[in-house]
Amino acid sequence: MRMREVKEEIRQVISLKALIADYTPVSRNHAVCPFHPDKNPSLSISDSKGLWHCFGCGLGGDCFTFLMQAEGISFQGALGRLAYHTGISLPEISETEVIAHQRQSDQKIQKLRALEEEKKERKHLLDESSKFLGGCGKG
Ligand SMILES: [Zn+2]
Repeated sequence: MRMREVKEEIRQVISLKALIADYTPVSRNHAVCPFHPDKNPSLSISDSKGLWHCFGCGLGGDCFTFLMQAEGISFQGALGRLAYHTGISLPEISETEVIAHQRQSDQKIQKLRALEEEKKERKHLLDESSKFLGGCGKG
């Protein structure tokens, strides 16, 4: 199955209204927009078309766009989540994409490790200086 077909299938299976209702109260075909300070429900939902549009801030799109905006994630991330949610399996991701993703998470892990090392180093220095100070006091 092609990515485009998968997208279509997810769009058909998912209830946009139910998805939006996870983030903001929905009444009939309108919801309070979670993307701008909204007092009146100015976000309109067309569940049959699978599209939403906010007349307040002008944002709009489909279920993927909504999830991307609501969660601050990439299209790939939104696709992955909705695929998992609907039980639709995604087509195999090409090797270069996997490598790119891998690299990203590697960088994150490396950053975390660097932070851990820095913490350890600081703690070590603190221990050393307190030992030193303690030694002076005793002497
Ligand atoms: Zn809005």
